[in-house]
Amino acid sequence: MDLKTKVADVSRVYKMYSGRLARLGIFTVEGFLYHIPFRYDDFGLISKIDDIQEGEIVTIQGVVQSIKNLYARRFIIQKAKITDETGELEVTWFNQPYLTRVIGEGDRISLSGKVIQKGSRLTLQSPEYEVLEGEALHTGRLVPVYPETRGVSSKWLRRQVHKILEESLGQIKEVLPEEILLKNKLLDLKTAIFQIHFPDNYEMAQKARERLSFDEFLSIHLRSMNLKKNWEEKNLNKPIEVNKFRNKINELIRNLPFELTSAQKKTIEEIFGDLSSDKAMNRLLQGEVGSGKTVVAAIAMFLCFLNGKKSVLIAPTEILANQHFKTIKNLLESFGVKIGLFTKSSKGKIDADIFIGTHAILHRLPKLKDLSIIVIDEQQRFGVEQRGILREKGNNPNILTMTATPIPRTVALTVYGNLSLSFLNEMPRDRKKVKTWLVPDIKRENAYKWIDERIKEGDQAFIVCPFIEESETLITVKAATKEFDRLKNIFPDLNLGLLHGRTKTKEKQKIFEEFKNRKIDILVTTPIVEVGIDFPNATVMLIEEAERFGLSQLHQLRGRVGRGEKQSYCLLFTQSKNGHVLERLKAMEKLNNGAELAELDLKLRGPGEIFGTIQHGMPYLKVASFSNFELIDKTRREAREIFPKISKYKELYKRINQTDNTIVSPD
Ligand code: ADP
Ligand code: MG
Repeated sequence: MDLKTKVADVSRVYKMYSGRLARLGIFTVEGFLYHIPFRYDDFGLISKIDDIQEGEIVTIQGVVQSIKNLYARRFIIQKAKITDETGELEVTWFNQPYLTRVIGEGDRISLSGKVIQKGSRLTLQSPEYEVLEGEALHTGRLVPVYPETRGVSSKWLRRQVHKILEESLGQIKEVLPEEILLKNKLLDLKTAIFQIHFPDNYEMAQKARERLSFDEFLSIHLRSMNLKKNWEEKNLNKPIEVNKFRNKINELIRNLPFELTSAQKKTIEEIFGDLSSDKAMNRLLQGEVGSGKTVVAAIAMFLCFLNGKKSVLIAPTEILANQHFKTIKNLLESFGVKIGLFTKSSKGKIDADIFIGTHAILHRLPKLKDLSIIVIDEQQRFGVEQRGILREKGNNPNILTMTATPIPRTVALTVYGNLSLSFLNEMPRDRKKVKTWLVPDIKRENAYKWIDERIKEGDQAFIVCPFIEESETLITVKAATKEFDRLKNIFPDLNLGLLHGRTKTKEKQKIFEEFKNRKIDILVTTPIVEVGIDFPNATVMLIEEAERFGLSQLHQLRGRVGRGEKQSYCLLFTQSKNGHVLERLKAMEKLNNGAELAELDLKLRGPGEIFGTIQHGMPYLKVASFSNFELIDKTRREAREIFPKISKYKELYKRINQTDNTIVSPD
């Protein structure tokens, strides 16, 4: 048996189990070893029968004097008598009649559980048990408890893991160079893998976890670096001329109705640097809602235009594509740039310098000989295949992807480590902070009155109803529709619009148009409100059942307002009385920075919250945690040192070239 042997090829039993094991992510023999316990039962206190005390969790070891089934009316009781040199103990289980076959009189047995008082005697009820042949696995130690699935218990896994460790521990090869182990005070791999399953004590379990987490992050970094290197070697293209066109670029920048932020200037220079090299750009621009990504993309595309090249900008929805079309036209048309809009409904051949559109572009745009740059807005909405098709439109085109998903910088550097990264971490100066209040239910009426007044002064509002289920199902739509009807009664003299995921595109466009023209005062929606949409006159964002949202999501929604000159407001409604929930939501009143909120989300609710919003290919961590920023940074530094000489470290090199690649990759 080899560690790389597929589960189904090991034995008949394993073959039978292979489907269930796949559900746990176990595909090979090695998979068992990397199936990590999520906790340990502490059965380490081994006690003599005479010494046990009520309430203790103990392990006792002795000889079975008798075991039998007793038939009660509704269940079968298993009663056993165990003795050691100090006394006798009676133990019971319920409805496990097979125990009389598994446990025999005269067997040496080990039992773990909580001591309870029954009548005048102390006893163990339904304890963990094992007949002792060799080493105790399920009792008498720190006992690993694993993620289970139907038909695969922790007890079964424990036995398999132990057997595999006994037979194959010798096959595990150290992957880290000696000096790194020493420098970082890490356990060697064999010890770590043994100790994560069957630790001598909690301290060793922790050390094992540290070691394996270290490996996990180091591998992610190294693979990213490798992907990046491969990209750079394979994707060569003709450099774009920058300096020759500095004057033109400056003229455009001078003509903008605002001053670029220094983060925007820095990002533009980073992009120019990429474009002017002979390696195709592969850059991700992360900047929260409203940080001004569009103008950065426009300037990059303008430079390509000046070089006589074409550009493509793709957005996830028609509404966004339309908005970009107008914005870019405004910015660049006077410089002689031809902008073409590609949507489902546009017909005929389109000739342009910059093509803007939705995924309709994927199918309708012909291959362009002189396509220089592809900009992908809200990149998380596009799949790997779609990005692949896009790249085929040109010859190793430069790729700029943009996202507003606020993930902490450290995490971004890890999961997008194969890309060059730019951060727009600074909002335009004149942007006013959105005042945010957590509104208790008793103030609901007042809040409505206040909104009514604001609207009569010329403002507009969003009211967001949550998804009732995970995604936008019919139930959610119904709930939103009901809320819409209710609100119509609360605001009888205002115009309300309703928008949800099942609204048809045409209708949607009409509603957005009416909202823009102030024919609608309040837009009632599900969280579907298009990302990136710009309504400067909307100043109020009311979110119902705010506790159902992650902080990052709330922040995204809040970003729909505060886009104009006027002071904007975000009202968070909740009926929750849970202190933790309220405290979490309160953070929205204080924090106004997407990355900080994302970090807090990560700490309070775990990674699911953030990574649920990144739809494609998040790496799945078995041991490590994305909230361990310190380790992420440490391993990145090590990876940078190792990578240039990676071919020297055979095991590590093998590992980073494995195909079970979990890195986010837009190519
Ligand atoms: P996002 O990063 O969310 O895509 P946009 O590019 O849509 O943001 O920009 C949001 C708004 O901010 C737009 O109206 C844009 O014109 C404006 N804007 C962009 N950069 C600046 C700046 N440096 N100063 C002031 N306003 C800016
Ligand atoms: Mg945008």
